[in-house]
Amino acid sequence: MRLEKCYFCSSTVYPGHGIQFVRNDSKIFRFCRSKCHKNFKKKRNPRKVRWTKAFRKAAGKELTLDSVYEFEKKRNVPVKYDRELWQNTVKAMKRIGEIRQRREGQFIKNRLRAGRNLSLVKERDHIEKNFDLIKSPAVSKRLLREKAAAAAKRKAQQAANEA
Ligand SMILES: [Zn+2]
Repeated sequence: MRLEKCYFCSSTVYPGHGIQFVRNDSKIFRFCRSKCHKNFKKKRNPRKVRWTKAFRKAAGKELTLDSVYEFEKKRNVPVKYDRELWQNTVKAMKRIGEIRQRREGQFIKNRLRAGRNLSLVKERDHIEKNFDLIKSPAVSKRLLREKAAAAAKRKAQQAANEA
């Protein structure tokens, strides 16, 4: 028994679930649910449908090219039953799952960081543009007074220079 991947959304197809289509060139397409099967029949490209794994990977929204995915590759070499190998594999599965989860979490964090920086910049921009709204009226009055005083001083100096 083998856990297959859905041709459209790349989720796992468990035994007894989903539907399978064999094209007349004997290529097998497996689908996890009718949603994926229907989209396939509509000749949609999974890379262009936003909710599929293929799209997310192609658009750089998910971790790809990581060594944790090496273990999940489909292998067509038959393995002789070996109790020790079996035990080790089950043990390794848990550990690899942990590592994978951590790396995916880190990837998401890194992606979110860019958005956070952008929103910070936007907020700062917004504050700078509308600074008058949060400035205390006393400050603006003082600034005006200072400006007037400076202008008067300049005028006086000019007059003194001319005289
Ligand atoms: Zn699917």
